[in-house]
Amino acid sequence: MRKILDVKKKGLPVFYSDNVLKVAINWPNMYNNKGYFIQEAHKSYKKNRLIPCYHGKLKYYLDADGRIVTCWAHNIKDAPNIRNLGVAAAIKKCHDNNSCKYCAFLSNNEQNALMHLSIRNIWNILYIHLSDIFKIKE
Ligand code: SF4
Repeated sequence: MRKILDVKKKGLPVFYSDNVLKVAINWPNMYNNKGYFIQEAHKSYKKNRLIPCYHGKLKYYLDADGRIVTCWAHNIKDAPNIRNLGVAAAIKKCHDNNSCKYCAFLSNNEQNALMHLSIRNIWNILYIHLSDIFKIKE
């Protein structure tokens, strides 16, 4: 992650925002054995400036088989399914079952950063896309 951040600072086209990379670099190492990140990480929130997760709150994944999951890291076989619960109940069950608070997965966290709507995150994402369009180097 540090190398990616370094090459980004040298102007190479790295999609991820600086703060998303820094969250992963400073991640306090509290993830479960399935590889996703749980609420204990909140103790380090201020220190590491973690980005709250909005998957399972503002965003859900609907798989082709009808399952609703918070994100790809929760590809659970018996996840709530719209085919037997209906859309609203499946989303509610997914929401209620969700215990994630923060994440270090880059792509998920880039989306979390956008949904967080802080000026810093909006600027980071805007800058990434504008610099890509206009080939601006830092
Ligand atoms: S994006 Fe959110 S729901 Fe998905 S693994 Fe990360 S913290 Fe959990």
